[in-house]
Amino acid sequence: MAKGDIKINNLIKLHTLLLLSRRRIHGYEIMNALQQNFGAKISASQVYPFLALLKNRGYIEHSKMDKREKKDYSLTKEGREFVRRISSKFASIIDFAVQSKVKTCAHCNCEVYKGGYEQRVRGKKLYFCCMNCAKSYAR
Ligand SMILES: [Zn+2]
Repeated sequence: MAKGDIKINNLIKLHTLLLLSRRRIHGYEIMNALQQNFGAKISASQVYPFLALLKNRGYIEHSKMDKREKKDYSLTKEGREFVRRISSKFASIIDFAVQSKVKTCAHCNCEVYKGGYEQRVRGKKLYFCCMNCAKSYAR
């Protein structure tokens, strides 16, 4: 971690960075997305000082597209590097979160993150990567 980096010590900050890394986004959109994600009221004071700090460090900038009231933020090159550093710092936590969603196919042992196929085989609920594996297993 580079010296003097902003500390990411809560999920709101982490999530804000993830939102920023996806697309140009307005401050209130960030707040709405956070509120939906955490299912709790997010106050401006939990978001805007952090955005100001990011801007101060040159990690985000107002989009140059609109000079009117709208204030879309986007990550700068330095900002993207910062997000990369943070992501690797949180890699083990992210791995853990992903791992808890990964299931193993009972037939071919491949790991499935999304989708897949659940079927009862001889009274046991088993998980398969696809219908074909389920068929082959049941045979
Ligand atoms: Zn399979």
